[in-house]
Amino acid sequence: MLDSYNRNINYLRISVTDRCNLRCRYCMPAEGIEWIDHSHILSFEEIIEVAEEAVSLGVDKIRLTGGEPLVRKGIVDLVKMIASIPGVKDLGMTTNGQLLEKYAFPLAEAGLNRVNVSLDTLDAKNYKYLSRGGNIKKVFKGLEAARNAGLDPIKINCVINPSGDRNERQELIDFCNENNYKLRFIRQMSLEDGSFYPVEGGEGGICKICNRIRLTANGDIKPCLFSEDGFNVREYGARNAILKAVGAKPLSGKKNKVNQFYNIVG
Ligand code: SAM
Ligand code: SF4
Repeated sequence: MLDSYNRNINYLRISVTDRCNLRCRYCMPAEGIEWIDHSHILSFEEIIEVAEEAVSLGVDKIRLTGGEPLVRKGIVDLVKMIASIPGVKDLGMTTNGQLLEKYAFPLAEAGLNRVNVSLDTLDAKNYKYLSRGGNIKKVFKGLEAARNAGLDPIKINCVINPSGDRNERQELIDFCNENNYKLRFIRQMSLEDGSFYPVEGGEGGICKICNRIRLTANGDIKPCLFSEDGFNVREYGARNAILKAVGAKPLSGKKNKVNQFYNIVG
């Protein structure tokens, strides 16, 4: 489906939960956030309806994210349901990897094609510091399991702070080269300030080729990461909400003071 600027919107990113088992410093406050009430979180049936409508309108690429998608109960079943929608050519997930060792095989079996794993450093201590408590060994085990399960490609998302350590960056480059992981550097962004950058090694952040819409865990279809517009599928119905969001896609992102990364399907 084409938006008002002739961009072909074929990519839907779905946040399956706003909950997370980490508290990364650039993403969530230490004390956590006020979780969306359960009654507002879309059920699997509602998510599937959105995915089916989106596919009928031309979406063929779907990514599940969060919060942390692997903390949503029944996530493997959801993957299976989405993978079985005719027309879904590419189904991916973005995860912090803490639970990936357990889930990689079942996810691949359910039809997940690829995975992006967030990893900002190779240093165990620094990882624990940045994620406020994460265990880097679990990420390494998750990555191994993902490879053994046949998930392909495996990408690493690394959020960089411009003032960060250049050596750490090189270590990650070497690590990814050795293991055949595709590395993407993401500059730390602020939705509130409207500061966004192209993803190094990826396609995100380049407005003129943006092909995405997003579904938040509570059912808003967002036209753009940096837009305060959102069309709730419970209010408008799935198809209408999608069409309205595509119609409202701005030429370029501005600012967004109503969402944060953990609830806007980053
Ligand atoms: N919990 C999963 C994870 O961390 O991979 C998925 C959700 S997380 C919000 C998705 C991606 O957004 C992660 O790669 C994370 O590093 C990135 N992210 C979070 N806050 C960010 C920020 N302020 N600027 C840039 N990227 C950010
Ligand atoms: Fe959780 Fe991902 Fe945000 Fe880290 S970046 S706090 S893992 S949602």
